Amino acid sequence: MGKPTGFMEISRVENPYRDASERLRDFDDLHVSQPADARRAQASRCMNCGVPFCQSEFGCPLNNLIPEWNDLLYRGMEREALARLLATAPFPEFTGRVCPALCEKACNLESEATTNRDNELYLIETGFERGWVQPRIPRQRTGRRVAVVGSGPAGLAAADLLNRLGHAVTVIERADRAGGLLMYGIPNMKLPKAVVQRRIDLMEAEGVRFLLNTEATPEITNAFDAVLLCGGAKRPRALNVKGVFAVDYLTAATRAVLSGGAPAIDARGRHVVVVGGGDTGNDCVGTALRQGCASVVQLEMLPAPPVDRPCGNPWPQWPRTLRTDYGQLEAIHRQGADPRIYETTVKRLLSGRIETVKLKGFDPIPGTERVLPCDLLLIAAGFVGCETATAMRFGVSPDPRGRMMPEDGSHHLRDKLFSAGDMRTGQSLVVRALADGRAAAMEIDRYLKEGAQ
Ligand SMILES: Cc1cc2nc3c(=O)[nH]c(=O)nc-3n(C[C@H](O)[C@H](O)[C@H](O)COP(=O)(O)OP(=O)(O)OC[C@H]3O[C@@H](n4cnc5c(N)ncnc54)[C@H](O)[C@@H]3O)c2cc1C
Ligand code: SF4
Repeated sequence: MGKPTGFMEISRVENPYRDASERLRDFDDLHVSQPADARRAQASRCMNCGVPFCQSEFGCPLNNLIPEWNDLLYRGMEREALARLLATAPFPEFTGRVCPALCEKACNLESEATTNRDNELYLIETGFERGWVQPRIPRQRTGRRVAVVGSGPAGLAAADLLNRLGHAVTVIERADRAGGLLMYGIPNMKLPKAVVQRRIDLMEAEGVRFLLNTEATPEITNAFDAVLLCGGAKRPRALNVKGVFAVDYLTAATRAVLSGGAPAIDARGRHVVVVGGGDTGNDCVGTALRQGCASVVQLEMLPAPPVDRPCGNPWPQWPRTLRTDYGQLEAIHRQGADPRIYETTVKRLLSGRIETVKLKGFDPIPGTERVLPCDLLLIAAGFVGCETATAMRFGVSPDPRGRMMPEDGSHHLRDKLFSAGDMRTGQSLVVRALADGRAAAMEIDRYLKEGAQ
């Protein structure tokens, strides 16, 4: 710990959002970064605790060596700090932007936690700017060939590590661009697509092959020594009424940002209702506002979470408390009120409107019906698992929760076949998908070394 009194002298300062009235006019990065001296001061707040919960199982799933790189950053040794970060973190430019920072919630400083996520982002972006991040091409090749199906964070993390270990890796992706939900799902203002493409280009330069617009079929198992399925868990939970699924809407929005054309599903001038009060719903709110919707509301079946931690949810657990995310803040700025309506669901669609009803638990309360204007209904009600068709094609049945999780908790399904990421665990987080992809890569490496046929 470079500065023992750092946390007492310096307050936590996060990378601020751009002003709402400005950022609502574009799909550019939400945040403004801070200069080097501000970042070093923030890093000085890390206390290098005897038990660093930030890198424990309560904190970072990648077990990032947070106190080490915060200390090096405080001392102005950015290059060394980046090297310690990259020892465990494959793509800090993604987690530095979209990770909910589990480490910060487990920090001993609690609500005044060290700004690990912003520090991590500063280190990797400094590395790119100064040319420290260069293709790392393996010196030796093993002659073993691995196919990774799906190019989301799990597939990319596995491909990256397997390639470093000397195996020849081919990533098979059905979409026209690599990145999975990093590319088509998470909106551009949270994760600019140029940042995703920059990493794909780097991986290509390192020797990873990407086959885009390609549906993986079981025949690939004949051509490779191991196959890792990382197909995600995007099967949406349907409702009793018809609407547009959130990922379809967000994908169309990103395609329009990338092409400069009009989105195939456009919220412009429309009254938008988003069903689902979670993070995906929030991304829909932010996107609809940027497209120029007439109004937006967000329906949530559950009651509003408490403002403070309930007693059954102590530190260092993730706090299940009320969060107001960027999209909701923007709706408050534009409409003057929080877009969220709690304990409410859609009862039926009417022409240009919807009828909602209040809930007690999951039961509608008679007489609480309300009509809202609605000409675009977006469904962000969660995900129910991986695509059954892909699983079945490879001869594996998903478990009752829609996961391809081997019974022994490993990543090895059978023979040459492995699974990782959301496809194995259910819909989760980028950082967890990265950690799972890396764990699967290590298992595959052991399998190949043990002389698989
Ligand atoms: C709208 C939205 C916003 C999110 N925001 C955040 C956030 O801010 N922070 C965060 O931490 N997490 C966020 N998440 C969750 C996070 O994106 C996922 O947990 C993560 O992307 C899962 O990674 P994955 O690699 O397992 O799968 P995915 O990212 O889903 O990638 C799977 C890939 O496999 C491909 N594929 C599937 N089947 C086949 C096949 N048969 N052949 C070829 N290719 C195939 C798909 O096309 C896809 O590209 C968000 C999720 C959504 C839906
Ligand atoms: S990846 Fe997430 S949890 Fe891990 S150090 Fe970075 S911000 Fe924290």
